Amino acid sequence: MSSFQSFAMVDWSGGNDTGPKPRKDAIWIAVVRAGRAEPPRYLRNRALAEEALHDLIDEERAAGRRLLIGFDFPFGYPAGFARAMTGSDDPLALWDWLADRIEDSAQANNRFDLAGQINTRFGGKGPFWGNALARDISGLPRTKEGYQNLFPDRRACEEAVPGTFTCWQLSGAGSVGGQVLMGLPVLARLRQASPGAVAVWPFEPLDRDVAFVEIWPSLLNDQVRQMPGIRDAAQVHLMARALANLAPRDLEQMLRAQSPEEGWIFGLGHEEMLQAAASDLRPPPLTNDCFALPAGVDWTPVDDALSMLRDKLRPVVGVETVPLAGASGRVLAEDLVAARSNPPLPNTAVDGYGFAGGRPEGPQRLPLVEGRAAAGLRFDGVVPKGQAIRVLTGAALPDGVDTVILEEDVTLGLGEIAFHGPVKPGANTRRAGEDVAAGDLALPAGRSLTPADLALASAVGHGALRVFERLRVAVVSTGDELVEPGETAQPGQIFDANRPMLLEMARRWDYQPVDMGRVADDRAALRKRLDAASAKADVILTSGGASAGDEDHVSALLRETGSLQSWRIALKPGRPLALGLWNGVPVFGLPGNPVAALVCTLVFARPAFSLMSGAGWVAPQGYDVPAGFSKRKKPGRREYLRARMRDGRAEVFKSEGSGRISGLSWAEGLVEIGDGARDIAPGDLVRFIPFGSFGV
Ligand code: AMP
Ligand code: MG
Repeated sequence: MSSFQSFAMVDWSGGNDTGPKPRKDAIWIAVVRAGRAEPPRYLRNRALAEEALHDLIDEERAAGRRLLIGFDFPFGYPAGFARAMTGSDDPLALWDWLADRIEDSAQANNRFDLAGQINTRFGGKGPFWGNALARDISGLPRTKEGYQNLFPDRRACEEAVPGTFTCWQLSGAGSVGGQVLMGLPVLARLRQASPGAVAVWPFEPLDRDVAFVEIWPSLLNDQVRQMPGIRDAAQVHLMARALANLAPRDLEQMLRAQSPEEGWIFGLGHEEMLQAAASDLRPPPLTNDCFALPAGVDWTPVDDALSMLRDKLRPVVGVETVPLAGASGRVLAEDLVAARSNPPLPNTAVDGYGFAGGRPEGPQRLPLVEGRAAAGLRFDGVVPKGQAIRVLTGAALPDGVDTVILEEDVTLGLGEIAFHGPVKPGANTRRAGEDVAAGDLALPAGRSLTPADLALASAVGHGALRVFERLRVAVVSTGDELVEPGETAQPGQIFDANRPMLLEMARRWDYQPVDMGRVADDRAALRKRLDAASAKADVILTSGGASAGDEDHVSALLRETGSLQSWRIALKPGRPLALGLWNGVPVFGLPGNPVAALVCTLVFARPAFSLMSGAGWVAPQGYDVPAGFSKRKKPGRREYLRARMRDGRAEVFKSEGSGRISGLSWAEGLVEIGDGARDIAPGDLVRFIPFGSFGV
């Protein structure tokens, strides 16, 4: 069974909303289409819902996406009922049987009458009960008095869960019987309308375009309670998100159920997995045009390409909670608000003696109270006015103390101290919250946590932090000529220089490097490798094969997906870059040339990755310094020279040859020369960007 690309969850209703005001017992549908969650839709009645589902099925089939639709009412009745009504155990035969008999319009329906007719076949005391209408219905008891049911009261799956209603109960708050009678005919018609397209779980193998699955949103009650707004909308929204988030293998496992007659509730026995998937907040996928540069431009200026990336990209990682201790380098996913003030209580900044109020000029003597206050050791008593107490740095000020005099400024006598005024009120003390007050913003979302940030987060009362998952960066080298470092190379072969460099850059940026090895210039092999990389990583960096030649398979494969953007950037060094999406994962196809690969990674990939990691856009800090070289440059392209600072001047590598890896290693940064023409003489100011400013 292949996986599903789209999910729709439906909160059905036995009632009808005839307007004008929305009512809570109408129908809510939440759709996650190809990974993108749409706002839940409110549908006033079953006829509108049927139409909307009909359209959804058509749209998703036309788009080539498999669709799973969940409905929150039983797909089957307790054992024996289907056979008693239709002569067959097949619950889908019962669906059609009901569809032939149920009449439904926005104004009225015959569900109570049909239930009464069914009951009459069995003596008129069951299995259905609960007539909500004013008029009496023959064979349908209003209450359970005298009730008789030849069938089991509950389905096997309902025995397992407290809080489910039986499908025999047709009235009363929470009862589901009316929804089943009114819902199954709709499902039967939707099936008939798209012959061969719909499979119903767990009665049929799910090998068609569309699957109908029974759900029970109460399995997500804990999660739903935390959502604002209308409960039914939140239920379907979270359920759709949960199913869309499930790994295909987990979904498949959860769809393994044996209940050919009564049906089953999706997620029973897998509640934790379902709840975790509902809580897993993931950003929507990127779209195919996310790397599109302005059309009709021959060479795109670097700044245009950068602002395009900045506009189109967004975080692609989920959120998790991690212990504070390991969180350095992680990106805060939510504003961190101080849970506690720092310092939590007013305290003393020095070792000395504490008392109340300031002291005037001249000699002062104060009697000492017994005891002392130290950090972590609070003085319980009250210090009377006109007396002093021994206090040590960090001690919370005892009651009756708001001022402290430094130990060195005091003579200690027997049970008293002497010192010279004046002393200002509040001297040598720290106010509670003078650093950070409880409720203040301590650290903003998007912050890459430093060691000092961990100190702050701890001080204001946090032991665990909500952070973005680490961005996983896959690195692949392509080229027939490449050999693994350290192996033997034949003449004509070269060692893979890019991959060790790029993996290490990802590590220094606090991402998770994913080494996807080397691939020959072979389209099928590269396709497989990109498949594997897209399953393991959030972004893929390839090097080599990014131009438009015969052996440029990265470009060729991205073109097949329809997402290829071949970037011609007015930049030196740098040949065309190939950008696109592979299975929804962004691919940065770098030129093979190591110098160009490095420059393109620093200039384009670094800020793009930062944005995708949740840390926001970053621009490297450069410094204007005197040139230690001369250079004449034509207008049109921005240039980056391998450079380093010596004796207060920027010197550049002796050769601009882009295959010169030794120059990369020699350099400690780049000199950036703007897009226009320049004639640089020694001593002229040039922009130097140290590698440290690029985070490497
Ligand atoms: P390509 O972009 O595939 O046309 O490669 C351009 C140049 O970069 C060629 O000379 C390649 O041999 C070289 N090259 C490609 N990949 C690497 C690599 N991983 N390490 C070192 N050189 C490479
Ligand atoms: Mg190549």
